[in-house]
Amino acid sequence: MAKIGMTTPLVEMDGDEMTRVLWKMIKDILILPFVDLKTEYYDLGLPNRDATSDTVTVESARATKKYGVAVKCATITPNVQRMSEYNLHEMWKSPNGTIRRILDGTVFRAPILADGIRSYIPTWKKPIVLARHAYGDVYSAVDGIAAEGNKVYLVTEDKEGREIARKLVHDFNGTSGVVQGMHNCDDSVRSFAHACFRYALEQGLPMIFATKDTISKVYDGQFKKIFAEVYEEYRAQFEEKGLWYLYTLIDDAVARIIRSEGGILWACKNYDGDVMSDMVATAYGSLGMMTSVLVSPDGKYEYEAAHGTVTRHYYKYLKGEETSTNSVATIFAWTGALRKRGELDGLDDLVAFADRLERATLSVIEAGEMTGDLVQLLSKEGVTPKKLSSEQFLHAIRERM
Ligand code: NAP
Ligand code: MG
Repeated sequence: MAKIGMTTPLVEMDGDEMTRVLWKMIKDILILPFVDLKTEYYDLGLPNRDATSDTVTVESARATKKYGVAVKCATITPNVQRMSEYNLHEMWKSPNGTIRRILDGTVFRAPILADGIRSYIPTWKKPIVLARHAYGDVYSAVDGIAAEGNKVYLVTEDKEGREIARKLVHDFNGTSGVVQGMHNCDDSVRSFAHACFRYALEQGLPMIFATKDTISKVYDGQFKKIFAEVYEEYRAQFEEKGLWYLYTLIDDAVARIIRSEGGILWACKNYDGDVMSDMVATAYGSLGMMTSVLVSPDGKYEYEAAHGTVTRHYYKYLKGEETSTNSVATIFAWTGALRKRGELDGLDDLVAFADRLERATLSVIEAGEMTGDLVQLLSKEGVTPKKLSSEQFLHAIRERM
């Protein structure tokens, strides 16, 4: 069989630990035998980020702007413990944060559903897709310690540096404490709203957006107002497709989501999205079954698994022990990127290959062969689940293809 050709390269961002191990296996076992793969390779593994003073991350994001489609492996976000483990020069920032900032994108996370894999929430029959506003709020906040007796103010200056407002945050009379100042930008909230409404229409999903504007009247109120304005541009298309858009309070949104049967796009503020995406992923079974795509307002796509580098499994792997790490979300990051590349370049074979690889992956699981994380989740009449190693699972998919 002739290999499937490509015209434009994919931006390939390699990563760390167990997912780096899976990355190579996925390419060797499932992709390179079938596709004449063209990529522009960036090594975002922590040692290379350190060696390049993290310029490699910026370059990979710029390449994504240039070519339009990237596939990314999970990467370590360094903390104090990683500083000594990797002998780092600096505590480099989260690569995902850097890439998001450069692409100004919105992250959509969707679970992969396999027949027989039970959700912890039995009513969830269809995917809940979660969109996280990936800019600002507490993620780019400034904070500090206030000593006893300090007064902390929120001060606004105009362009000329003249003070135009001063509000007391707190008078720390009698006790020390902590303070935090955060922001968001109208432009960013607006492009987030556009990205969500567009994605909902593209995927045919109704949409919920929620904040806590009863408490945070001005701050969250601004999010609510901008979403309402932007929705007017999409209302006719939503109604035409029989879709709905609901703005509500975050508490109410949580209750509605839990009671729903899925098939909804849930647009979240940055922090809500961080927390709720982990809840939704876990409820659908395994973090190993959650995909993530960053979509920029000008239509650039970066695909990845939603989980991290699976450190605990990697340490086992380093000791020579057998691992059973779920590679499904990373495989679907590859298929998502290959399919998008195929669509953009008019390569039907490449699109068909992505479809086939996804079907093969799901049918291996549905036939009862899977990684350890899924074993206790399978409930299918007549199927006794069999636990495979990381590598055996990939070979089972290959055989099925
Ligand atoms: P994690 O790598 O997602 O793993 C947490 C736990 O979830 C694992 O120990 C494992 O549970 C389970 N798990 C996650 N993915 C799995 C898979 N594919 N197959 C089977 N089990 C899976 O999160 P973490 O341990 O908090 O973070 C590890 C590193 O990843 C950190 O350095 C963090 O900075 C980084 N990280 C990167 C990204 C990213 O690049 N997008 C995202 C999150 C975290 P058991 O141990 O119980 O088997
Ligand atoms: Mg999170």
